[in-house]
Amino acid sequence: MSFSASIITLFPELFPGPLGASVLGRGLADKLWSLEAVHLRSFATDRHRTVDDTPSGGGAGMVLKPDILAQAIDTVSPPDDLRPRILMSPRGRPLTQARARELAQGPGAVIVCGRFEGVDQRVIDSRHLEEISIGDYVLAGGEVAAMVLLEAVVRLIPGVLGAAESHADESFENGLLEYPHYTRPQTFEGMTIPPVLTSGDHGKIARWRLEQSRLLTRARRPDLLPDEG
Ligand code: SAH
Repeated sequence: MSFSASIITLFPELFPGPLGASVLGRGLADKLWSLEAVHLRSFATDRHRTVDDTPSGGGAGMVLKPDILAQAIDTVSPPDDLRPRILMSPRGRPLTQARARELAQGPGAVIVCGRFEGVDQRVIDSRHLEEISIGDYVLAGGEVAAMVLLEAVVRLIPGVLGAAESHADESFENGLLEYPHYTRPQTFEGMTIPPVLTSGDHGKIARWRLEQSRLLTRARRPDLLPDEG
């Protein structure tokens, strides 16, 4: 069984977008994963195909209506669907590499993209939507956030990245930021590759990389280091 993503959105034409390029796009063509973008507006019931209404209690903007959104979720994801239901939301738990890895091991995801001021709380509660944020800033809609989530997840699906592009020692995989990379030429604008990397001593190279990872993490992301965070 391959990973299946369903997106509920007012802008289905944005998909697959960047998810159709490069290794992810190849994985899509090779059916290592699948993607359907479902138009929320197709579940509207009135003549004007209304999907939003003004916020109860007043205030600016519009809120996605719970009845229309619930109908869309129930159609895309019937009760026997084992996929987690996710709402992209700045109020959500921040996306992590660990959550991306969990999702990549599962059957897929149903992802709701908010727009305007957001979605009616009752649909979040009744459909058990897991709110996930991609960072502490506010986007205009959930579509780009859903692409970020899917890009992080799909590249971890077995076979999507070739063996040559392994992710075993990438940033966050061992709780640290990745060490610096170098490639030929040996001298670039007067700067040379650190000699340890061309020494051929794999033990020494591994120790140097770990040390660089620790230095970078301490300098830039001390919050990632449990002892000193
Ligand atoms: N009024 C809301 C923001 C709405 S932004 C608030 O203050 O919390 C409109 C939609 O964009 C949201 O419903 C959500 O789906 C998406 N979005 C915005 N910022 C996001 C973020 N940082 N992470 C994930 N989704 C986000």
